[in-house]
Amino acid sequence: MIIASCARPLQPRTWEEALPHLPEAVRASIQHNVPLAPYTTLRVGGPADLFIEARDTDTLTAVVAIAQRFQLPHFILGEGSNICVSDAGVRGLVVRNACQNAQIGTTTYADCGYNLMRLFQKSLHAGLSGLEFAVGIPGTVGGALVSNAGAYRSNICDLVQQIEVVEQGERRWVGPEWMEFSYRDSRLRRGGKPPATLLGVQLRLTPGSRAHIRARARELQLQRIRKQPWQPSAGSFFKNVYDRALAESLPGLPSPLREAGVVPAAYLSEACGFKGLIIGRAGVSVKHANFIVNLGGATAADIRAVAQTVKQGVLNRFGVLLEEEVLYVGAWPNGTG
Ligand SMILES: Cc1cc2nc3c(=O)[nH]c(=O)nc-3n(C[C@H](O)[C@H](O)[C@H](O)COP(=O)(O)OP(=O)(O)OC[C@H]3O[C@@H](n4cnc5c(N)ncnc54)[C@H](O)[C@@H]3O)c2cc1C
Repeated sequence: MIIASCARPLQPRTWEEALPHLPEAVRASIQHNVPLAPYTTLRVGGPADLFIEARDTDTLTAVVAIAQRFQLPHFILGEGSNICVSDAGVRGLVVRNACQNAQIGTTTYADCGYNLMRLFQKSLHAGLSGLEFAVGIPGTVGGALVSNAGAYRSNICDLVQQIEVVEQGERRWVGPEWMEFSYRDSRLRRGGKPPATLLGVQLRLTPGSRAHIRARARELQLQRIRKQPWQPSAGSFFKNVYDRALAESLPGLPSPLREAGVVPAAYLSEACGFKGLIIGRAGVSVKHANFIVNLGGATAADIRAVAQTVKQGVLNRFGVLLEEEVLYVGAWPNGTG
């Protein structure tokens, strides 16, 4: 008697089981146990179990589609300028997005692995305005979209026309509303939704005078040089606080900020006396109280201890719970992430 088998092919539950589902060339370029610190601007963090650099969007799609379909642990890495990787490192596969295609025009296309400042340089040469705010913001276009990067009252979300994404294993274009952008935030920073990867974006740029674009960018760059430390960091560690009552209660706050109801995290940190605080080999910059810097040889635990001290101090003194702009990545003690 023949018994019909109702067994389905087994779904891979680990990367080891899933690797045969990837094209041979992709599989061959996966590396094991790769230290991540050199891939981040904070220069801290342990290794990735598995690591691949995707140089074109087809490869990136192939890898993340498998990860999404089989629900395997994976992390998309841009230029690591907004993350703090744990000392224990990252389990699963880290996919470094190194896709480098861009076409400039009033509708500009860029792969999400493209460097944001390089994109600004290209737009300047083409006499197109919109990306001046990006001067001094390290990282990829994808990382900028995820955190809705911006400066000096301009944010990348203002330029977005369409984004190409991979979600639930499928590649498709979506409108800006899909990202649910808000201040230094998007749906990709929040849990609770299926993971998605950004492949490319169309940005709307405006024709303008090269001289004006260059002058504006230079002015913003000089402001940064004056204010920001040179040591390794991930930029502003905490988000600014939008709280009108708090702003009005702080007599020392410059009046434009008080009128706008914005309290810079740096103001709160400095008022608590945290400028120059040092724990281990990490500290709060003496130049900017919202920059946590690696003083040389810091661990991720040092960085996080400094952040925690600032957070607790500001909570105790002002009753404000600061929210990290920097994302903690990887396996942390007590399962905190
Ligand atoms: C000196 C300094 C100054 C800075 N100044 C500013 C500033 O003025 N304004 C500002 O907004 N930020 C600033 N930053 C923070 C940082 O540069 C930006 O957030 C940047 O856009 C992050 O890009 P990244 O490629 O480095 O992202 P990463 O740090 O590599 O990744 C950040 C997050 O985005 C996710 N991600 C990245 N790419 C993709 C993708 N293609 N698909 C899905 N998820 C993805 C990652 O998984 C991670 O969760 C500064 C940082 C530094 C070091």
